[in-house]
Amino acid sequence: MPRVGLGYDSHRFVSGRPLVLGGVPVAYEFGLAGHSDADAVLHAVIDALLGAAGLGDIGEHFPDRDERYRDADSAALTTHTVGLVRATGLGVVNCDVTIVTEQPKLGPYKQAMRDRIAHLLRVEPARVNVKAKTNETMGWIGQGEGLAVLAVVLLDETAG
Ligand code: MG
Repeated sequence: MPRVGLGYDSHRFVSGRPLVLGGVPVAYEFGLAGHSDADAVLHAVIDALLGAAGLGDIGEHFPDRDERYRDADSAALTTHTVGLVRATGLGVVNCDVTIVTEQPKLGPYKQAMRDRIAHLLRVEPARVNVKAKTNETMGWIGQGEGLAVLAVVLLDETAG
């Protein structure tokens, strides 16, 4: 029986930090505030993975009060999460991501994010999709305070 999981994350833009989305460095004047590297895309993917597998949420596995996760590489957290999921006998069928932000424009980075996320999830890039859109200038996203990410993952039993 396939299992679906939903992930959501949001982070505030701040000066003085690099912007990393989907494990890919993105050129922008702001980065994202956060305890880890604040990669909101991978955080949403991690929560979708955990949700589909019935394994709780990112805060339970990687607490933001834990010094081990200060400036943590979210790619490493994703790899760890995929290991937890696979240990339950489940593997990723596909993953779909929507990033909502006014700036920066992410079109030039979508393929690289797709490739990187697919590598982390141990699937072909064709099984990962990354979409980017604005919030039509409305609200906190529209005013450029931060960005939000939604992710959906489908899992199914692995052959081995
Ligand atoms: Mg986060």
